[in-house]
Amino acid sequence: MAQVTCSFCGRNKKDVDLMVSGISAHICNFCIEQAHLILGEEDKTKKSAGASKPKFKLKKPKELTSYLDQYVIGQEEAKKVLTVAVYNHYKRLQQKDDHDDIKIEKSNVIMVGDTGTGKTYLAKTLAKILEVPFCIADATVLTEAGYVGEDVESILTRLLQSADYNVEAAERGIVYIDELDKIARKSDNPSITRDVSGEGVQQAMLKLLEGTMVNVPPQGGRKHPDQKMIAVNTENILFICGGAFDGIARHIGKRLNTQPMGFAKTSNTPQADRENLLQYVTAQDLKAFGLIPELIGRLPVLTHLDPLHKDALKRILTEPKNALVKQYTKLLAMEGVKVTFEEGALDFIVDKADEYKLGARGLRSICEAIVTDAMYELPSDESVKELVIDEEYARSQFDKSKFKRLQVA
Ligand code: ADP
Repeated sequence: MAQVTCSFCGRNKKDVDLMVSGISAHICNFCIEQAHLILGEEDKTKKSAGASKPKFKLKKPKELTSYLDQYVIGQEEAKKVLTVAVYNHYKRLQQKDDHDDIKIEKSNVIMVGDTGTGKTYLAKTLAKILEVPFCIADATVLTEAGYVGEDVESILTRLLQSADYNVEAAERGIVYIDELDKIARKSDNPSITRDVSGEGVQQAMLKLLEGTMVNVPPQGGRKHPDQKMIAVNTENILFICGGAFDGIARHIGKRLNTQPMGFAKTSNTPQADRENLLQYVTAQDLKAFGLIPELIGRLPVLTHLDPLHKDALKRILTEPKNALVKQYTKLLAMEGVKVTFEEGALDFIVDKADEYKLGARGLRSICEAIVTDAMYELPSDESVKELVIDEEYARSQFDKSKFKRLQVA
């Protein structure tokens, strides 16, 4: 019998682990592996060539806004600015191959707004609409390399994880960096008493924001020193930063030559809305707060979020697609109980949220305090088919809860 040899490398059958036979050729396991590797490489090149032209359909700013409206109440200005920035950002990716000298620069965004007004929620909802990988990073845990804490590169670890380690997908993702105000440097701002290794982190963030190749530890942190780094290009990653910038209103007020509170009669800028000074925020105010000019320059799109007043809070309770009231109604409907929240109860919840000054974030915990008893009892009591939550019920449940004990002055 003729000797069987691999038609590709010529190895003899007895020298290989496996020989696959075709009609008139044979291939050994070594050549199969080799061919597989080549296929993988080829695939990667094709993917990266296609990376500059994302496959998703880019939605126009107005389309994006109408999606956002289904989830986020109010914040018209932020929605407009954000959707335009996002639209331009992804348009820029699609027009990357142009050979003229016009280079559309990144439009990283910075949002200034009180806690619980929807900064994170806006960024998250946008990413969901765009179907791109998204992650939230907290600037407070970041420190300069070599200090206890996390390196700025760890931000991208999270993005990689949310993209299932698909580097190309991660490179078109959105990163939301929360609490950017906490890395402001101490000087220039008397209201900040502790420097959370601010300026060093700001410096380290510069290269990340402007677009560069970053070596990212895939497991994150510094706990795995031997891990193989993954190179990620941040050029097409959109960074959206947010912060409450406590005390900046006072500064803006001063700049506008008015007072943040009271003394309306002496104000010589009567047109300024002193209830919402954040709407006048400029890059200059961020600098005075302690962000370094280089960082501000890399976050060219600046917008603000309006404080959420009672009417907005009430709409948040009932209107968005996944409004809390809708969630509880669904949860209890699964037990066969029809639940109704009366206006009085909604107003009570809103009043409490306003009192605790937690923005929309407070709504959830107040609702929990009110409905937990019902959600505990009703699944075991099949006789109850209906639950009406009126003001009295809401108040008595709330007063029983630990909230009452936590009451802030
Ligand atoms: P922050 O501004 O501190 O980042 P978040 O975006 O995390 O606040 O808001 C907390 C929660 O409050 C969100 O998950 C969302 O459910 C709700 N929320 C906040 N603002 C709005 C809003 N404008 N419309 C609808 N829900 C909101």
